[in-house]
Amino acid sequence: MMERIFFVLKKIFTRKEKVVFGVDLDDTLGKTNEMIIKIVKEECGVSLLQNDRKGYGYHCWDNRVSDDEWQKILNEFHEKKIMLVEPIPRAAYVLNCLKDCIDIHIVTARKIETKKETVEWLKKNKIPYKKLVFSERKDEGIKYDFFVEDNPKTASALARKGTIVFLLDYPHNQLIDGGGKDPKNIIRVKDWLELADELWAILLKK
Ligand SMILES: [Mg+2]
Repeated sequence: MMERIFFVLKKIFTRKEKVVFGVDLDDTLGKTNEMIIKIVKEECGVSLLQNDRKGYGYHCWDNRVSDDEWQKILNEFHEKKIMLVEPIPRAAYVLNCLKDCIDIHIVTARKIETKKETVEWLKKNKIPYKKLVFSERKDEGIKYDFFVEDNPKTASALARKGTIVFLLDYPHNQLIDGGGKDPKNIIRVKDWLELADELWAILLKK
């Protein structure tokens, strides 16, 4: 499957600039939710379930964790736990298959202070990329042809600008723009292999 995608991409995109493929980091390349659950257990003794995170903001996950505690937990994550985040299955495999015919930009809303650990983590997990961008406004600046995200608000902003967004399906991103059908240009996928299938279907239509 991936070899076929690689072949078709090469044939289709003959323009000078390569296709720009933006990729979010937390809960797109790495299992950040799982790490946050571990830190909350250690710091507050509270057991969280991924299924209970019904909105994107951590604060709405569980009211047993106070705002101050959330701040501490997020600091702990950024300062000490980044290297311990497990990679999301098949993300590195799919991106390595695509890397020679697209430009991969890893775009994260993490603080710039995490750059060293983030670079090390990407290397450790063999994730290829051309650029690493620290930005909260992913819909500004460069126009991405495709983007992989888990944040529904970011997905919606990118989709409105014409980017085709693969939204990794989570309980925390069921509502986009307040609910209803997913907007145009957003393709909800359960994992990276389904993403590869969807990409293949799009390329076949070109
Ligand atoms: Mg994310």
